[in-house]
Amino acid sequence: MQQRTLKEPLSLKGIGLHSGVNVNLTINPAPADSGIVFRRVDVDGKPEIKALYSNIVDTRNCSCLGDKAGNLVSTIEHVMSALYAAGIDNALIDVDNKELPIMDGSAKVFFDALKKAEKVEQNAARKYLKIKKEVSFSDEKGNTVKLLPSDKLSVEFEIEFPSKIVGHQVFDNEITPEVFEREISPCRTFCEKYQVDYLQSVGLAKGGSLDNAVVLDGETVMNPGGLRLKNECVNHKVLDAVGDLYTSGYYILGRMVASKTGHFHSNELLKVLFKDSSNYEIV
Ligand SMILES: [Zn+2]
Repeated sequence: MQQRTLKEPLSLKGIGLHSGVNVNLTINPAPADSGIVFRRVDVDGKPEIKALYSNIVDTRNCSCLGDKAGNLVSTIEHVMSALYAAGIDNALIDVDNKELPIMDGSAKVFFDALKKAEKVEQNAARKYLKIKKEVSFSDEKGNTVKLLPSDKLSVEFEIEFPSKIVGHQVFDNEITPEVFEREISPCRTFCEKYQVDYLQSVGLAKGGSLDNAVVLDGETVMNPGGLRLKNECVNHKVLDAVGDLYTSGYYILGRMVASKTGHFHSNELLKVLFKDSSNYEIV
């Protein structure tokens, strides 16, 4: 398999979930072996930050990249997930805000545009990160995420919420472009109404609405159309996990097993993985 990039720049726009302002995003072709790099075109000097786990500076509500000068690019996970599934190895992504546009809260707009866009094969083989040994990270509550050896990327993810609409949900499948398009890409981020009320009371989630998140109020889905898929919530967690795994800088040959984890855990897992080079092999 050769590395791939886009043939032509692809531009999209939307609003930032927290800022509520318009954000322009352009995904440009990039040379082989350059990986995925974000560029803040609204900042003097147009600083570039590579989408690597070691450049993640905040994982509280999203995965946020930062550099030493304090420039940020936040909420990268949905774009990263779409790039992974669309088979894009190299891209230089221009953004004119510190926050990427939220679109409909899923990866659908990004993935559909990337799928349709013309790609070019580059003069370098794709490098895969092959998991050689089990690595894991657990938080103080015992919520754990692991990577296990496998010859393809698969994810098993489990969540449990008190609301019966969510309850106990499990995803377990290989991550192919077809599975991604059908079961993962359209799944939106979700939250409880009280969380939205709190975030808005402290000046965040200004762009948040029923157009870009599933909002649960007790046992009710507030969105007029309801859920897109029965297991939309856990599948969205898989969407986030695939995007976060892509901050390894590689396509992964391994199996992720996660229970009630999020951006923080995925980032810590990659730190554990890369701490010992006998955990993996680049093939
Ligand atoms: Zn997400």
